Amino acid sequence: MADWEPLIDDYEESNGDDVKIDTHHRSVPCRLCWTIFGRVRLTLRYCGQCKRAFCEGEHGSFRNRGLCVRCYSDTSGQLA
Ligand SMILES: [Zn+2]
Ligand SMILES: [Zn+2]
Repeated sequence: MADWEPLIDDYEESNGDDVKIDTHHRSVPCRLCWTIFGRVRLTLRYCGQCKRAFCEGEHGSFRNRGLCVRCYSDTSGQLA
């Protein structure tokens, strides 16, 4: 049971996906997949702006730095 507790922690958005990925090298679920579709897709990418994990390709781009589609639409289409 104790082995699964860190996994639950990974699902907690307020803990900071950037810290989990960069410092702890843990894969975390894409926040957009989870919020919109209720599905779990683990990723090691996170958005440089909102620090939330995203799955590359579908919900974000990692060309210059990570940017999720949510922040991408906030910048009205200006990547990086
Ligand atoms: Zn996704
Ligand atoms: Zn973002």
